[in-house]
Amino acid sequence: MDKHLPRNILITGGAGFIGTNLVRYFLEKHPEVKQVINLDALTYAGSLNNLQDIAEKYPSRYTFVHGNICDRELLKKIFIQYEIDTVAHLAAESHVDRSIDGPRDFLETNILGTYELLQAAKNYWQDRTDVRFHHVSTDEVYGSLGDSGLFTEETKYDPSSPYSSSKAASDHLVMAWHRTYNLPVTISNCSNNYGAYQFPEKLIPLMIQKAEAEEKLPVYGNGTNVRDWLYVEDHCSAISTIIHKGCNGRTYNIGGCNEWQNIELVHLLCDLMQELRPPKTVKNYRDLITFVKDRPGHDQRYAIDATRIQNELGWQPSLKFEEGLKKTILWYLDNSDWSESIRKEKYSGERLGK
Ligand code: NAD
Repeated sequence: MDKHLPRNILITGGAGFIGTNLVRYFLEKHPEVKQVINLDALTYAGSLNNLQDIAEKYPSRYTFVHGNICDRELLKKIFIQYEIDTVAHLAAESHVDRSIDGPRDFLETNILGTYELLQAAKNYWQDRTDVRFHHVSTDEVYGSLGDSGLFTEETKYDPSSPYSSSKAASDHLVMAWHRTYNLPVTISNCSNNYGAYQFPEKLIPLMIQKAEAEEKLPVYGNGTNVRDWLYVEDHCSAISTIIHKGCNGRTYNIGGCNEWQNIELVHLLCDLMQELRPPKTVKNYRDLITFVKDRPGHDQRYAIDATRIQNELGWQPSLKFEEGLKKTILWYLDNSDWSESIRKEKYSGERLGK
C-alpha cells in the first residue's frame, strides 16, 4: 500500500455518468479534499444539469471547466492554477455501439487525450512523489471469456471493439509513463456499471426508459451474453480506495462478482418495474421483449476476479444487485424530466452500431 492524500483533484469527464457520481462522492465523503475540478467537453454524454445542485452546495470546493482533454494549453493552465495533486481520468468516448459507427472520436479522446493529460501531469509534477494519476478503464480490454474463468490483472489484453482497443491503448500509455518517466500512476479495470445519471443508450437505462414508455425492449442476439454488473457508487468507492491506498504502478480489477445474462437481467428489470410501476397497455413488461440482430464482434462473457483490491486494499461492493437495480429504477422513474430532455434533445433510443 502507498498512502496518498488527495487535496486538489482534477476529475476529467466529471459531467458524464461515472464522473458525476465520483464528483459527488469526493465532495460528500471526503471533506478534507480542498477542491474538485471537473474538466469536461460536454459531448452528447455529458450534462451540467447532473451537477447543478453540487455547484450550488459547494461553491468554494467545486469548479467546472468546460474544455477538451486534448487541449494542451488548457491542461497546463489547470494544473498550475488549481495546484492539482491528483488526477482521476474518466473522460472518454464510452459507448461500444457508437465506436462501431464512428471510431475516430474514440482514438482522439481516449488515446490522444490520455497522452496530453499524462504529459501535462508529468510536466507539472516533475519528480514529485506526493501526487497520483489514476486512470479509469474497463474490463473490456481483456476481450471475451468462454463459459468459465475470470479476468485477473494478469489476463492478456485482447480487445474486440474500437472502444475497447482505444481504452487498451490508453492503459498502455499510462503504464509506459510510469515506467519511463516514473509518473505515480494507478489503473483500474472495472466491469459494467449501472446507477443514476447513466446515459440512456446503455442497456439498463435504455430498458427502463423504453419500458416506462411501454415500447419494445430490444435484446441483442439471443440474450445470452454475460456481464458482471457493479453499482456506480461502489465503483466510486473503489476508485477512491485506490487513489488513497493503491500501490504506485499497480493495476486493480473492480467487479461485483455479479454475473447476469442480458436476458435474465431484462427479466429481473421487467419484474421490478411490474411491481414499482405496473404497465397500462400490456399485461406484463416481459411481453415487450424482442430479440434483435446482434452487435458485430459482441463479446460473449465478461467476469472479474476482484481478489486483489479486496485483499490488498480491503474494498468490497456494498449493494446486492436486486437492491441496486431497484434503487436505479426508482431514480429513473423519479427523474423522468432528466431522461425526457435527453430523449428530446440528444438520443431517442434508436439502434446504434449495426
Ligand atoms: P460517459 O460517456 O457517461 O461520460 C464521459 C464524459 O467524458 C462525458 O461527460 C463527456 O462529455 C466527457 N468527454 C468525452 N470526451 C471528452 C474530451 N475529449 N475532453 C473532455 N471531456 C470529454 O462515460 P462513463 O460511463 O461515465 O465512463 C467514464 C469512464 O469510465 C470512461 O473512461 C469509461 O471507459 C470507464 N468505464 C466505464 C464503465 C461503464 O460501465 N460505464 C465501466 C468501466 C469503465
